[in-house]
Amino acid sequence: MSHRRELVIGQTVLGRPIEAVHFTPPSYAKPRPPAILFGGIHGDEPVSQLMLERLADELIERPPGRDTWIIPAVNVDGLLAGTRNNANDVDLNRNFASRSWGTQRRPGYNPGDAAEDQPETQALSNLIEQVGAQRLIAVHATYRMVNWDGAGEQLAKEMAERCGYPVEHDMGYPCPGSFGTKYGVERGLEVITLESPYLLADERGWDECRTALRWCVDLPD
Ligand SMILES: [Zn+2]
Repeated sequence: MSHRRELVIGQTVLGRPIEAVHFTPPSYAKPRPPAILFGGIHGDEPVSQLMLERLADELIERPPGRDTWIIPAVNVDGLLAGTRNNANDVDLNRNFASRSWGTQRRPGYNPGDAAEDQPETQALSNLIEQVGAQRLIAVHATYRMVNWDGAGEQLAKEMAERCGYPVEHDMGYPCPGSFGTKYGVERGLEVITLESPYLLADERGWDECRTALRWCVDLPD
């Protein structure tokens, strides 16, 4: 039986499937809470999708040491259109149901008409609930940085050791409705935001992030 299966966890505003790859660890692995890694929540950061597709390809050869879910492209419509927001022009990373969610809009950030009213946000939130994930890795672009929320400090430091990026606790401004606020600040889960560099120039960015991402899924080099 394969340790890898592909499934659809929801649909976008325009009806496109949101795909996940699920890896089950080898039977000898120590049981640990599931991890979810996702990219492309901002459609203008396609490198985050590429990064996680490459990771998922590598895990075919050697499974991760913990139950792992990879969603390379959450905002499929935005990725195809090259826009940060989804097809309803909502910033999905302001649409999560944190206590601080509100309709007040900072310039450039549309949180939606109601918390988690967007299908892409719902798909990700439902998966987190269903599998009981406690380690959540959001890949964004393009600053070369490891940001943490909630219980993520130790993991952020371990990842930073491997990729050589600085560790940051918060982004320096409040983020109502952000993923990190809901799951890290409010629920106390292990939340990491990895800011990946562009991969166009050379393989350096992949090499850096690869070792950090493999560490997250208990697959050290
Ligand atoms: Zn982003």
